[in-house]
Amino acid sequence: MTQPTPPIDFGAGRIGSRWAGPKQAGPTSALVDELRSICPISTAAADLAEHARDWWPLAMRWALQAQVPQLPSVVATPSITDEVRRIVLACARHDTPLTVTAGRSGVSGASVPLFGGVVLDTTHLQGVVSVDRTSGVVEVCPAPSAPISSVR
Ligand SMILES: Cc1cc2nc3c(=O)[nH]c(=O)nc-3n(C[C@H](O)[C@H](O)[C@H](O)COP(=O)(O)OP(=O)(O)OC[C@H]3O[C@@H](n4cnc5c(N)ncnc54)[C@H](O)[C@@H]3O)c2cc1C
Repeated sequence: MTQPTPPIDFGAGRIGSRWAGPKQAGPTSALVDELRSICPISTAAADLAEHARDWWPLAMRWALQAQVPQLPSVVATPSITDEVRRIVLACARHDTPLTVTAGRSGVSGASVPLFGGVVLDTTHLQGVVSVDRTSGVVEVCPAPSAPISSVR
């Protein structure tokens, strides 16, 4: 499983949020239980910290002071599209913010979970559908171990 490369080491200390608001109340235990029934989730401090940042240069400076822009409360790692659908529905039903992240290599903070809540980590959604050797175009989709259906 490919893991994003962390942009910079955190400075010493407990990782905290740089932005006090507009973070909303964390997910209810009912939502956490529902997410856990859908796919692997994490509430480990180290996972939350890594999913709270990308390669935004300003946030790298904050990381040196053990700060991230905004911490999520839960990281959910679906590996098939139906799990994505169920996560989105659950967050909507519980009125909880949801932020999608991928490689977290963006340089402007786009994957930062601005409102806290749940991060939906797409890095476990992997699969190659087709490869066109002439054009070099590769079609990929969010499905685990999807077989290559076409190589032209
Ligand atoms: C050293 C370095 C060099 C770079 N050079 C270039 C360059 O030359 N040219 C260039 O264009 N870019 C460059 N970038 C930027 C970077 O490569 C892109 O921003 C990157 O493609 C973002 O992809 P990601 O998977 O990391 O997305 P993330 O950073 O995880 O997310 C980016 C945004 O996409 C959203 N998102 C991600 N996946 C999904 C999904 N499945 N569904 C819905 N929304 C989603 C996120 O919510 C977020 O808003 C560079 C970055 C670095 C660190």
